[in-house]
Amino acid sequence: MSKSLQAIRGMNDILPEQTPLWRYFESTVARLLDNYGYKQIRMPIVEFTELFKRSIGEVTDIVEKEMYTFDDRNGDSLTLRPEGTAACVRAVLEHGLSGGGQPQKLWYIGPMFRHERPQKGRYRQFHQIGLEVFNLDGPDIDAELIVLTWRLWGMLGIRDAVKLELNSLGTSESRGRYREALVEFLSARLDKLDEDSQRRLKTNPLRVLDTKNADTQAVLVDAPKMADYLDDESRTHFEGLKARLDAAGIPYVINPKLVRGLDYYSKTVFEWVTDKLGAQGTVCAGGRYDGLVEQMGGKPTTGVGFAMGIERLILMLETLEQVPEEISRQVDVYLCAFGEAAELAGLTLSEKLRDQLPNLRLQVNAGAGSFKSQFKKADKSGALFALILGDDELAQQVVSFKPLRGQGEQQSIAFDALAAHLATCIVQG
Ligand code: ATP
Ligand code: MG
Repeated sequence: MSKSLQAIRGMNDILPEQTPLWRYFESTVARLLDNYGYKQIRMPIVEFTELFKRSIGEVTDIVEKEMYTFDDRNGDSLTLRPEGTAACVRAVLEHGLSGGGQPQKLWYIGPMFRHERPQKGRYRQFHQIGLEVFNLDGPDIDAELIVLTWRLWGMLGIRDAVKLELNSLGTSESRGRYREALVEFLSARLDKLDEDSQRRLKTNPLRVLDTKNADTQAVLVDAPKMADYLDDESRTHFEGLKARLDAAGIPYVINPKLVRGLDYYSKTVFEWVTDKLGAQGTVCAGGRYDGLVEQMGGKPTTGVGFAMGIERLILMLETLEQVPEEISRQVDVYLCAFGEAAELAGLTLSEKLRDQLPNLRLQVNAGAGSFKSQFKKADKSGALFALILGDDELAQQVVSFKPLRGQGEQQSIAFDALAAHLATCIVQG
């Protein structure tokens, strides 16, 4: 195939054999979030570039080198969204959803775009489910976000394979004092830092803590700790969160180097990490961003949220063999008809069955074919039962009802009795 007719590197088709698992994952999360009282919001995929620069921060990896930015025909600079929080905050402000200090618990799902080096668990178009909560400033809601993800891991059967890492970045005042101390410490050891960290020290010093460079990591061992710079407000908030996680029985480790890539976080930050996916180990990450809404032109409004990477979680379900068997079977019954008269009768019969059993997953053979070929298709469809309709059956107004997965003998069933019979043999989810 010529190159122009291939998908863009790092942007994947999700093929029919994979969609059942995606739908299972998405519907499990949607049901859980309904039950916790979160409401879905849907934002556009493209926004003004300025939105992301203002919210994510100019000197972050995303804005510096990962965004898909282009001019549209009016000459406006637009960007494919690299994450959901910025657009969600924009929508909340634009529609007054946080007006009067009213709490909002929102969630979204959809594709995000970042120009990164594609590899397992890292793509240029990937999908996130995110939650954002506004106007609730206590540790109780930070805890709820973590508690509900913990429940989700349990529902998906991956709880034993993920670990919660937690840190507090403090209020902007305490973070400011910490930043000063860190800059002073690192500036005195500038020659021992890698090039990237030297640059970050000037633009975004906290991100030096995030370095993968071993020499810089060695320097950081004796660096000032954020925990020693937390003011009372930040400390009380963090203690309140930990007390709730303890009460809920959720294990965590404090990771003082957890700073997150985006500029807007304050107080709580957390990541759910796994060692089952190689280098791309973070499956869900977030934190509190109390200053963001104001920074984007709104009234002071607290915020907290997280996003999970759907591809990474799907990979985990596969790696840990937690794909439920029943999701791959999409057909209950396959109807085979032989000859024009039987096809016509089959059509009316199947539509009547759909009226009577609205959840029935009934596939009607298309394209005619011999007994052998229709039967092969019936079997391949994964159906539990085949309904067979030929001249003999038609004459007697019955179908031959054939179990395909070894549940009993073939039998004849009158048209009128078919719906009732199917209702007894098919357990519907
Ligand atoms: P990483 O450190 O892996 O680059 P991040 O800090 O950039 O992650 P966030 O912006 O916090 O990621 O996004 C939340 C989640 O979205 C991540 O924890 C991950 O599961 C997923 N994610 C982020 N970038 C990608 C990507 N390029 N491909 C697939 N999933 C991704
Ligand atoms: Mg990243």
